[in-house]
Amino acid sequence: MELKVQSNGHDYVGISYVSDVPFILIDLLCMNSIDDDVKQGSEWVEAGATLSKVYYNIANKSRTYGFSAGICPTVGVGGHIGGGDFGTMVRKYGLVANNVVDALIVNADGETLNKTSMGDDLF
Ligand SMILES: Cc1cc2nc3c(=O)[nH]c(=O)nc-3n(C[C@H](O)[C@H](O)[C@H](O)COP(=O)(O)OP(=O)(O)OC[C@H]3O[C@@H](n4cnc5c(N)ncnc54)[C@H](O)[C@@H]3O)c2cc1C
Repeated sequence: MELKVQSNGHDYVGISYVSDVPFILIDLLCMNSIDDDVKQGSEWVEAGATLSKVYYNIANKSRTYGFSAGICPTVGVGGHIGGGDFGTMVRKYGLVANNVVDALIVNADGETLNKTSMGDDLF
């Protein structure tokens, strides 16, 4: 069976939910918490959080910070960072990926890696 990962299902061609063969879906929709440190200018966001949840959270905590990401509120952060990324602030602040300072991923061996342990190439 194929294994598919979905953060919020906004892939234009349905890569996260369309297949010719049976597949198992890892749905990250409920992994959507935001652990922020807005005063430091950063926050940990789980993959299933929507862009609107991120924007709302930042706006509630800061009058100066924003987040240079897309305009669709229901896009998932996980898929957006990996394959989307642009919005109205892109010309000044770049893509989301340009602003990612660390990430936790689970590799095929089940190991959890951060920026340092995954290495520059993968990051
Ligand atoms: C209405 C609409 C408006 C949009 N507006 C914008 C915009 O303004 N700017 C912009 O840049 N893009 C925009 N997009 C595109 C959007 O950013 C991408 O389609 C993005 O990949 C969607 O992320 P998702 O998590 O919602 O989708 P998903 O379908 O869940 O995932 C998309 C892809 O990423 C993979 N993936 C998702 N989460 C993970 C994860 N945690 N780990 C590994 N792989 C993962 C999936 O397997 C799939 O291949 C828009 C899309 C739609 C439908």
